[in-house]
Amino acid sequence: MPGYEVIGEEEKREVLEVLETGVLMRYGFDKERKGIFKVRQLEEEFSRYLGVSYALGVTSGSAALKVALTAMDICPGDEVIVPAFTFIATYEAVLEVGAIPVMADIDETLNLNPSSIKACLTPRTKAVIPVHMCGAGARIEEIVQEAKSLGLLVLEDNAQSCGGSVRGKKLGTFGHMGIFSFDYYKTITTGEGGLVVTNDKVLADRAEWYHDHGHDHDPRVSRAMEGRTILGFNFRMNELQGAVGLAQLRKLDWIIQEQRKNKARIKEMLRSVPGLKFRELVDPEGDTATFLAFNLPTEEKALTFQQALAKGGCDTVCFKNNKWHYVPNWEHFLAWSTANSQKWPFTNPGYRGVVPDYDRSRIPIAEDLLGRTLFMPISIVMPEERMQTIEQAIAQAKREI
Ligand SMILES: *Cc1c(COP(=O)(O)O)cnc(C)c1O
Repeated sequence: MPGYEVIGEEEKREVLEVLETGVLMRYGFDKERKGIFKVRQLEEEFSRYLGVSYALGVTSGSAALKVALTAMDICPGDEVIVPAFTFIATYEAVLEVGAIPVMADIDETLNLNPSSIKACLTPRTKAVIPVHMCGAGARIEEIVQEAKSLGLLVLEDNAQSCGGSVRGKKLGTFGHMGIFSFDYYKTITTGEGGLVVTNDKVLADRAEWYHDHGHDHDPRVSRAMEGRTILGFNFRMNELQGAVGLAQLRKLDWIIQEQRKNKARIKEMLRSVPGLKFRELVDPEGDTATFLAFNLPTEEKALTFQQALAKGGCDTVCFKNNKWHYVPNWEHFLAWSTANSQKWPFTNPGYRGVVPDYDRSRIPIAEDLLGRTLFMPISIVMPEERMQTIEQAIAQAKREI
């Protein structure tokens, strides 16, 4: 999965260029920076790579979600539909802007089920956040179509499938806005970092203003004299992150290619396991192959298989049991334990709805399918020895189910 495996000379060279000027900030210091604008260049190269009009570097994927929801004017009292299977940051971001997340079910792609959108709809629903989990896309065309017919905004959380696509169009560019994460676990990394993308000039401007205290970034005046637009905050990406990001972006297609090769080999090893089915991919050509996901007929069989694989030195993840990626397991979220003692926004008196229940009974497909699905992380570099360990572990585990 992660770009940290291949940090090397290219990243060093980019970072050194920044250190030689001494200018670590993306804005200002025009004389000292000697024409070097790493974050700006990363935004330009990324938008070209994705085929999107605007990209904005920010401090993290979580920050990117908050900046995007703010740009989209998601307000206190609004509801936002989010799949039950996602990293907790997606839910936290909705709460950060004062809105209420509504939990939706998944489908065989393990991503947001397009038909669950209508089931979650209320007069307060403003937006939906499809999350492209574990390397592969949701049924994004159907989701965008459904959202459009219901008058909802779409924000794609593409923290986990950077470089992936559906029918030739890059994930993150289907909705009104999209976000990426470059944290240390992600397909490409800047240590911490994120990106907000959109084709809409109004949303792009609002995101840019909000992420830098409302600065209008007027190129004709110095930073101190720039105009003030809306109140914002500081989510600026710095030049060192921009530099590492540039080197990593240039490796992205190669990273995906290597992961695909490794994944294809392991997929072959698993093919003969009785009852095993692979995760449904909307478009196999656009898979980033950061994970290989497969399911067995029952939860019991899946757990037996998982333990047998682990004994053989091959670890897998069952996300139904994971503490950070499945809503029913977040006891602090379920208890409304936000960071303020008033439990806001769950207790917002201006909220006209009933706080949605996050009970397992609302997500039958996730409950069934995630419980019998195992995820094997795929690395960029997988030496022959590692492949043989996996092959032997699979052969042994097959005998135990
Ligand atoms: C990693 C991740 C985020 C948050 O990104 P950070 O850069 O770690 O803040 C958001 N959503 C999903 C689905 C993620 O996996």
